[in-house]
Amino acid sequence: MKYQKRSSEEQIVLSISAAASLCILPFLVIRIYNEDWSIALLDFVAVATTAGLFGYVYFTKRTLFARWVLSIICIAIAAGTIWLKGPDQIVWVYPAIICLFFILPPNLAALLCAINIALIGYLLPAEMSVIENARFYFSTLVTFIFSYAFADRMLYQQAQLQILSFKDPLTNAGNRRAMEEKLIDLLKEQRQQPAEKKACLLLIDLDEFKKINDKQGHACGDDVLKQTAALIEHILTPEQCLFRFGGEEFVVLASNNIEQSIALAENIRQTINDFPFEQNVRLTVSIGLAEYQYDETGLEWLARADVAMYQAKSAGRDLCCLAGS
Ligand code: GH3
Ligand code: MG
Ligand code: MG
Repeated sequence: MKYQKRSSEEQIVLSISAAASLCILPFLVIRIYNEDWSIALLDFVAVATTAGLFGYVYFTKRTLFARWVLSIICIAIAAGTIWLKGPDQIVWVYPAIICLFFILPPNLAALLCAINIALIGYLLPAEMSVIENARFYFSTLVTFIFSYAFADRMLYQQAQLQILSFKDPLTNAGNRRAMEEKLIDLLKEQRQQPAEKKACLLLIDLDEFKKINDKQGHACGDDVLKQTAALIEHILTPEQCLFRFGGEEFVVLASNNIEQSIALAENIRQTINDFPFEQNVRLTVSIGLAEYQYDETGLEWLARADVAMYQAKSAGRDLCCLAGS
């Protein structure tokens, strides 16, 4: 059987619903044994719903509905047990708060937490002393604030990591992973509406770049790579994307027709040819461009652009060549 990786959202919902049903199950048994029917019913609903949610997410891989139901269960169980059994059950509020921050985005979780704390505050018996009330509100508030800060930090770091994992650190262009992701999207788009929106791929290879490294040093080579990427980025529109494909090779993916792409390639070639790089470096590029052909794979598309790029090299470099079909 083929192993299918689960998203982190699925994993969170699966583990929380499994943990909740397994943790509440022994209490359900004890409540039935003690013939404590009202709380037994609450526990039964919680076990049945969380087990049902586990099955639902396990088989459908859908999490949105399950996350909402799980959040409501968190609030209902915490408030319900306190309502039925009194303030001794306050301990259940803390895992409920933490659960909410695992399941929902921080702001939404914060809103539901505030509702949860207010609801439980309302359900607490009036004869509770000031110090007992203060203990409840301060301890839940501290748990709430720490959970919020932790969830918010996690989200921020996750976003930062995602940005970094798609960037080439030297040139700031997209890296190969970013290119592959973009290709998947572009190919999907092209297959859905082949006649409407044409896409072109430009494979740009720096000419005799090794000589720059050999003569001026590797650091100078790095600077040239950075400046070249910046020059190309400057020419591109926001819809056209630049990626560092490998060493001294770049790829541009553009939703252009072939005439626009030839003009773009020629503009890039000429701009780099004209640019006065530091240390008297003279740089030219060879560009292979290929228009997407219906139903070809990303690799086939790249391979055609590569052949065209090598044609430009063999024809003397500092040239743009159009790929055949
Ligand atoms: P051609 O015109 O045929 O493409 O010749 P070339 O010298 O550009 O091609 P070749 O494949 O022989 O050499 C590519 C060079 O690019 C070799 C490698 O040291 C250099 N290179 C690759 N990545 C980097 C990098 O990140 N920094 C620097 N400074 N050089 C790099
Ligand atoms: Mg090369
Ligand atoms: Mg080269």
